[in-house]
Amino acid sequence: MRQKLVVGNWKMHGSRADVAALLGEISASLPAQAAETAVCPAYVHLAQALEVCAGSAVAVGAQDCSHMSSGAFTGEVSAPMLQDLGCRWVILGHSERRQYHAESDNLVAAKLGAAVAAGIRPIVCVGETREQREGGEAETVVAGQLQGALDGQKDLTGLVIAYEPVWAIGTGLTASPEQAQAMHAFIRGCLAGVAGVDAEATRILYGGSVKPDNAAQLFGQKDIDGALVGGASLDARDFLAIVGAGRA
Ligand code: PEP
Repeated sequence: MRQKLVVGNWKMHGSRADVAALLGEISASLPAQAAETAVCPAYVHLAQALEVCAGSAVAVGAQDCSHMSSGAFTGEVSAPMLQDLGCRWVILGHSERRQYHAESDNLVAAKLGAAVAAGIRPIVCVGETREQREGGEAETVVAGQLQGALDGQKDLTGLVIAYEPVWAIGTGLTASPEQAQAMHAFIRGCLAGVAGVDAEATRILYGGSVKPDNAAQLFGQKDIDGALVGGASLDARDFLAIVGAGRA
């Protein structure tokens, strides 16, 4: 049985005061037997987030990491640095990184290797654009992103996949539970063909306008193992309701 996992992606939002208020409320009010929970604030807020969440069941992760472990890479943050700080998770290949920072599947693969080597659990994002879905290419695109990131990896310990249709991110449009389930089942089938991955044990999160009113229905699908949550993770009550919907 795969335990549900709910991860908040705070993107480039918030101040120190927001981190204290939001995480204070989330860590103090986590529902019993809720989904495993993590939040991914901006790099500059990670240390504070770790302090606020210390002793609670809320884990902290980063939104990205470098593909290199150290060196002259101005502006970058490495996976070993995140591990040293106490981060447990890192989001990789988010569509906003692919779109605004031209991240290729090769780069995502290198970051994945770096994260696993440092002992950080990777959440690898895949998903098609609206044009690709309308053109009947959704499965081909997602299979290509999975292959590009996962093939040839030495170690895929702790791998989590997040299916995030680009057309549903921050738009208020959500894939229907049936649409999401169909893609999650397809992804699990792809994972079954990847060396070193136990497809049945691997958690596949859904991301794209997950809110308190659609979380339970999404989580009721056989292959949906939780959510990567953007906008709604910035509101403690909404995020807690989503986490609560993932009760075992
Ligand atoms: C995301 O960016 O990972 C995301 C899922 O955002 P939202 O929930 O706002 O659609």
